[in-house]
Amino acid sequence: MPPTAAEYAARQEIPVAQVQSRAPRPTIVGPDTLEQPFPIYLVGPVQKGFGRGGKDLGCPTANLPDDSITPISSVAKTGVYYGYAQVLPPQDHLSDFHNADLKVLPMVMSLGWNPFYKNKVLTAEIHIMHNFKSDFYGYEMRAVVLGYIRPELDYISREALIEDIEIDKQVALNCLQRPAYQIYANDSHFQIPESEFKASM
Ligand code: ADP
Ligand code: MG
Repeated sequence: MPPTAAEYAARQEIPVAQVQSRAPRPTIVGPDTLEQPFPIYLVGPVQKGFGRGGKDLGCPTANLPDDSITPISSVAKTGVYYGYAQVLPPQDHLSDFHNADLKVLPMVMSLGWNPFYKNKVLTAEIHIMHNFKSDFYGYEMRAVVLGYIRPELDYISREALIEDIEIDKQVALNCLQRPAYQIYANDSHFQIPESEFKASM
């Protein structure tokens, strides 16, 4: 017998009404090959955000500067996207990172109107699906955006938001498994970490 809404809610720790009103989400989205306007390439130094609780939600998001996101903001559709990202520390900060931190990694990106600028400016925030050794404010971040997951939603509860972020991450990983998307991990937009470069020689 399937669990009652109450049992389900207890397990998920979210209010009953919330569960009843939310349809299950697909685990993979979009076409098997890339469609316009993807791929979209972004690069810029990571900026301090506005403390909208990335780390509190278990989901730190690295912000790109406004002038670096024109390639995506000209697409002008807010929401959650997926792709790959790489963080490149300056030479004198390389020891802040493990080799694994230098890889091209799967990411989810939120493109949204920034309340700090009275919702007139779009902001791109990237969560990289990796546990970094340290923060990387000021370091160069490179990203390729490959597809769209969902629109921005208004959340009634923090639990519902966290649940959706977890689903976004899983959807992104599933989407990136497709060969036409996977190849972008090796795109020339990214740098081969020196350790791998040496290994391949
Ligand atoms: P802010 O409001 O400054 O963006 P967050 O709580 O969203 O603060 O944290 C973002 C910062 O956390 C990033 O700028 C980066 O330096 C660091 N960080 C650590 N791990 C990650 C990760 N996996 N993805 C994105 N940023 C990360
Ligand atoms: Mg952030």
